[in-house]
Amino acid sequence: MAIAALSCDCKTFTDAYPNKEDVGLSDTESWQLRALCRGNHAHLFFPPSTFEPKESRLRREARAKAICNVCPVQQECAAYAMETKELFGIWGGYSESERKELVAVVNS
Ligand code: SF4
Repeated sequence: MAIAALSCDCKTFTDAYPNKEDVGLSDTESWQLRALCRGNHAHLFFPPSTFEPKESRLRREARAKAICNVCPVQQECAAYAMETKELFGIWGGYSESERKELVAVVNS
């Protein structure tokens, strides 16, 4: 399935910056260059600064997760979010609450 069909029809970060040196990323962070969520997709992955009704949040998160499901760095992204305890947003296909549940399961 084409990414454009899942969300906006915009360039990815990788299209804009094909070399990690261009944006000063370390080797550890270079997986981010292949992230499908960069660029204009970012608004799908984080809540707005104003109130977001539950139905809107569920739709937004479903669109973000659909992108994650075809992202070539999904595993790296999920691992990074767990390691750094990211508090907000969809990372690696997991929402904030889903990441908390995973941590609880791992620590039980
Ligand atoms: S898995 Fe999702 S949040 Fe992570 S880099 Fe890919 S598209 Fe972005």
